[in-house]
Amino acid sequence: MQIKTILNRVQKFKSFVYGAVKLVEGTSVPTLEVELQPRLNSRPICSGCGHKRSGYDRSPERSFEFIPMWGHKVFFRYAPRRVDCPSCGVRVERMPWVSGKHRLTEAYVWFLSGWAKRLSWKEVAEAFRTTWDHVFCSVDRAVSWGREHQDLSDVEAIGIDEIQWQRGHRYLTLVYQIDSNCKRLLWIGKKRKVKTLLGFFRWFGQQRTKELRYICSDMWKPYLKVIKKKAGQAIHILDRFHIMTHLSKAIDEVRAGEAKELKEKGYEPVLTRSRWLLLKRPENLTENQETRLSELLQYNLRSIRSYLLKEEFQLFWQYVSPYWAGKFLDKWCTKTMRSKIEPMKKVAKMLRRHRPLLLNWFRAKKRFSSGIVEGFNTKAKLTTRKAYGFRTYKAAEIALYHALGALPVPITTHEFF
Ligand SMILES: [Zn+2]
Repeated sequence: MQIKTILNRVQKFKSFVYGAVKLVEGTSVPTLEVELQPRLNSRPICSGCGHKRSGYDRSPERSFEFIPMWGHKVFFRYAPRRVDCPSCGVRVERMPWVSGKHRLTEAYVWFLSGWAKRLSWKEVAEAFRTTWDHVFCSVDRAVSWGREHQDLSDVEAIGIDEIQWQRGHRYLTLVYQIDSNCKRLLWIGKKRKVKTLLGFFRWFGQQRTKELRYICSDMWKPYLKVIKKKAGQAIHILDRFHIMTHLSKAIDEVRAGEAKELKEKGYEPVLTRSRWLLLKRPENLTENQETRLSELLQYNLRSIRSYLLKEEFQLFWQYVSPYWAGKFLDKWCTKTMRSKIEPMKKVAKMLRRHRPLLLNWFRAKKRFSSGIVEGFNTKAKLTTRKAYGFRTYKAAEIALYHALGALPVPITTHEFF
């Protein structure tokens, strides 16, 4: 059997045929070259308008990189014809294995981008003896194609989240679809300003925005403002994940302050290395941590009282009726305000301010568990962290869409992957 036979099985062209296959001498990586020729009597297609035209001349031979095979790099060699097109002028012909002026074949692009979903870009480059830039370019093209071809109908629920990226307080705003039958990243914007989220709604379009029924977000003012203005018809839910994050941050602040204070006053450093004891849910603690926590609970420390307040707040989510959940919330806030623990009081004040939105979670019948946004948040952080090759915003953006966008791929790519 010849290599040509295999090629014809994986990628057969209507108007082109595979010619000779030869080993190239003197390359550092073993390399195969496959000649391509137009089928006899076939007329070239103009790359401008897509019509069959008569030939004009032939440009010099070019090579196009195809999927490597058995440790060999594979290149197609072809001298493109130029057409004399009445509407476009003299143009190079359309070649079905490549798009535009690229040097990587479409098949190779989808092959690399497919692997880039399973491995880091660096690993893909190493595994297939190609460059990081080629992998980047492939993922970029896969993402552009996918975003052009994605179906945005029937989006009823979205979640808005932000992640920090790079060092310092630089944020990205991420918008997810969180419907039960479809969960994916829809959009990414720089920063977390009013302008950022307005950008999402502009991209999403008025008609689709009108069809939104639920929006989950954090209590971040710019978000609240834009959501109210742009999608007032949707039930706006402050989700559990973000609220519990605020409480955890408050505890962290209390603990750090108190630990420092104890040290300065020369007391036993009971709070040292207690961070996770206070942040983890009790059911997730190890046996050893459990013992340490029960010891800690004997002290009348602000950290401990904050911890107990947070644990008590978990009960809030157990309610079914918004009315009783509201009663619980009021009581909890009063109690917390009396605690005299500043960071906790700050959270209580914030919760009070957003009481109606908080209770919307019960009105939406708890349809949106904290797991969805939280899961995406973890994956998004992982993607940007794994990507410290991504110094530019563009690369981070592409990586996130690729990993979380559930983007479609052309049907033919399954033959290679
Ligand atoms: Zn044309």
